[in-house]
Amino acid sequence: MNHLKKTLSYFFRDELSIKHKFVNVILGSALLVQVPGIVVSIVVGTDLIGLIIQVVMAVFIGSILYLTNRFPESIVPPIMISTGANLIGFPIMFFVCGGSGTGIVIWMLFGAIFTWLLLDIKWSVVITVIIFCILTGCLHIEKEYPQYVSFLETRNDEIMDTSIAFIFVAVIFGLIFKYQTYAYEKQAKILRGSDEELRKLNEELAEANTRLESASAAKSSFLANMSHEIRTPINAVLGMDEMILRECKDNQILEYANDIDSAGHQLLSLVNDILDFSKIESGMMELHPVEYELFSIMNDCYNMIHMRAKRKELEFTVENDPDIPAFLYGDEVRIRQIIMNLLTNAVKYTKDGSVRLIFSYEKTDDRNIRLIVSVKDTGIGISEENRKYLFDSFKRIDEKSNRNIEGTGLGLSITKKFTEMMGGEITVESVLYEGSTFTVAIPQLIADKGTVGNFGERLSHKREKSVEDSGKDKSAKKDRFTAPRARVLVVDDVKMNLNVVRLLLKNTGMQIDLASSGDECLKYTLVKRYDVILMDHMMPIMDGIETLHRVREQADGLNADTPVVALTANALVGAQEMYLEEGFVSYISKPVKSVDLEAALVKLLPKDKVEYGPSDPHEVKESQDSHDN
Ligand code: ADP
Repeated sequence: MNHLKKTLSYFFRDELSIKHKFVNVILGSALLVQVPGIVVSIVVGTDLIGLIIQVVMAVFIGSILYLTNRFPESIVPPIMISTGANLIGFPIMFFVCGGSGTGIVIWMLFGAIFTWLLLDIKWSVVITVIIFCILTGCLHIEKEYPQYVSFLETRNDEIMDTSIAFIFVAVIFGLIFKYQTYAYEKQAKILRGSDEELRKLNEELAEANTRLESASAAKSSFLANMSHEIRTPINAVLGMDEMILRECKDNQILEYANDIDSAGHQLLSLVNDILDFSKIESGMMELHPVEYELFSIMNDCYNMIHMRAKRKELEFTVENDPDIPAFLYGDEVRIRQIIMNLLTNAVKYTKDGSVRLIFSYEKTDDRNIRLIVSVKDTGIGISEENRKYLFDSFKRIDEKSNRNIEGTGLGLSITKKFTEMMGGEITVESVLYEGSTFTVAIPQLIADKGTVGNFGERLSHKREKSVEDSGKDKSAKKDRFTAPRARVLVVDDVKMNLNVVRLLLKNTGMQIDLASSGDECLKYTLVKRYDVILMDHMMPIMDGIETLHRVREQADGLNADTPVVALTANALVGAQEMYLEEGFVSYISKPVKSVDLEAALVKLLPKDKVEYGPSDPHEVKESQDSHDN
């Protein structure tokens, strides 16, 4: 039984095509017919030649069956079966086994039909025509020359032979068609199954996709929240440190405070990078194009980098094509960030030599240019192999040798994303141990007429002018002022933040009240009229937005139209628009610097309460430091 199963599974194995399996059914059935046929022939006393032919046929069918399964790809065996049986076997049987009175005509019909099952249509037509001619020829010879036909002895033998042929052929075709139906049904079932599997797979994929999306959204919102939470204490640390830098006279403590300041700003830029990254990842990053002056970007980059370069004894130069349009339209903040990232890296990864910042442009048409900014350094360089990972997020190259250099591996990936968001591209050329050149080319609109001129000349001119101005009138510094008659209310749930703001504004001499919740704020606004309110956003129970609305609607309140400034660590994209829409007059992001705070306040305070006084010597130093950072 097992042996039979094994043999059957060999003839119907999966790698065989359906057609091939038919061949096996036909040949197997023919063999099954042939063997009892031989027995019957012996019983009915068919002559020796007839018997030999039947045996030869059985051997022939057996060998074709073997060859077909040995070489399943070949079309030779099916052609051999068809031609062998139809063109040789059956005609010989016609004459030897009794002529048209026997079952041979049924066998010939069988041969023609299985040719159609086995071969392609062209071969089937050809062989059928030949079979037709052979059959007609045989019948004709039988009629005209009956002496060539070896008839069976009795009519009974002929009837038996015909009946047997009928039974066998009917059974063989029955088997073939049954198997065909079975094979197609099986195939259809498999297809239905794989359809079902595909559907399930699709569902699982969609589910996995949703899970991934929500995981990614959760990650982004986690990063955004984390950076918000981290910015709040950094605000306190940097604010307090600013007070130490401003008020302390002890050099040792000033040195410590300077270190805190630089580490704090490093931490801040890290948090900002993570925030930018999470915004880009979650698709929340938007560009905010404005009209800007290119010289101001050049100047800021120069101011921010030249001190760092000097500390490392690197030569730092800014070069430019003087014909670049002076006023452009684009996302100034992001362009500044891109250049600063490249410059910071250049200084970080260069031990000696120079860093050059080069501005040039290509005119695309009358209204558009491609602003091209290159940062060239003579630093450690990047090997060809490492260059392909350069823009991957969180990927730092040569971690071993760069261990002592701070970094997250986010700067370049953010830079590339910003550049691409603006329709530009970034390229890098580098020779290991000799230096690197990073170049960004960003499309920008020309906003106004005029060219930027030579940066070096403009810078020295600017310096001379500022020395002159400061000599003429030291008190001309607009941002620093006193306003002892002005009243300001600061609302924040974190005590330390309240103190930071109070201390940062100490020099202005303003009257400052501190409220540590929305409720407390409403108590103050009921009894005192303020010139400005500085309001934190994220506060428990009643947040800054709700508090603002309540202040506006407060019956008998004294501050229905007092300007309220949002002072918050929420640095998410769109925050500014949201605050303005809610009714805040402006928005300051924490950690806040006294300069920014004063600049925002001086715009809002009544003019008659503001007095500009001589500036304090600490302030000059402070503003330089803030540039360096
Ligand atoms: P990181 O915070 O590590 O500086 P970046 O994304 O800015 O992250 O840079 C990725 C890596 O590219 C760095 O770790 C550094 O190995 C390499 N790299 C970037 N800029 C330079 C450069 N100017 N010279 C040599 N290597 C650089």
